[in-house]
Amino acid sequence: MTDKNKPRSPPGQRAPASPDAALAAPRVQISPGQVALAWTHTARFLTTASQLKEVPATDLPEIAFVGRSNAGKSTAINRLAQQKRLAFASKTPGRTQHINLFEIGPKDAPDALFTDLPGYGYAAVARGAKLRWQQVMADYLELRRSLSGIVLMIDARLGATDLDRQLLSFIAQRVGSGEVKLLVLLTKADKLNRKEADAALAAMRELLGEYGTEQSDIGVALFSALKKTGIEDAALALHGWAHPARR
Ligand code: GDP
Repeated sequence: MTDKNKPRSPPGQRAPASPDAALAAPRVQISPGQVALAWTHTARFLTTASQLKEVPATDLPEIAFVGRSNAGKSTAINRLAQQKRLAFASKTPGRTQHINLFEIGPKDAPDALFTDLPGYGYAAVARGAKLRWQQVMADYLELRRSLSGIVLMIDARLGATDLDRQLLSFIAQRVGSGEVKLLVLLTKADKLNRKEADAALAAMRELLGEYGTEQSDIGVALFSALKKTGIEDAALALHGWAHPARR
């Protein structure tokens, strides 16, 4: 047979020279950060609850997002989920005071829940409703068995306010025992220069030092949805909480 008559693979479908060569083909490397982001990207709306007893019981590890109104919580959740409007469900009229739950992981086998808790300290909420809501939130954080981690969003320019400190005191016991992990994201970090960002981090580390114990897992990071700072690290932390390494 001449060269001209040899069977040819169609363009783009060239057969491998040998099975060994096919095995040696370069594989695409996926970093742990990409795995974590692909996981947070699966977030989908599950349900909304106006009272603690309406939040469905679950065995899945739950990660709660909390922070003062306007701290950048919705934007951060949307960035992590890489979905423009996901957490803005929590901002539609009638839902601002609700606990909104999102399912994470494979559609047929979700492996975690994200819980978006109402922002606190919002001036426009009537005083009675505000107090009731702060109680619902405190109860959720103190009593919810499946809660395994809390992401607390604090505006990097403002630092911890009185309400943030109150929230930290609600959760101090569960965080101290290691039952609930804590990640503080200093949001809108793009608005700070390097020196200010370092100072904000140092101040927060000092405050969180009061809550640290041998068992606790407490982290703090600068975060900017705008500049995409800290998103992959946050995804990695949350993925790690939901998938603890087997010992
Ligand atoms: P929430 O009330 O905590 O859910 O806060 P939002 O996510 O609605 O954000 C409040 C405001 O802060 C909005 O005007 C956002 O556009 C803005 N914001 C959120 N994240 C960032 C950020 O990373 N950088 C800057 N510069 N602004 C942000």
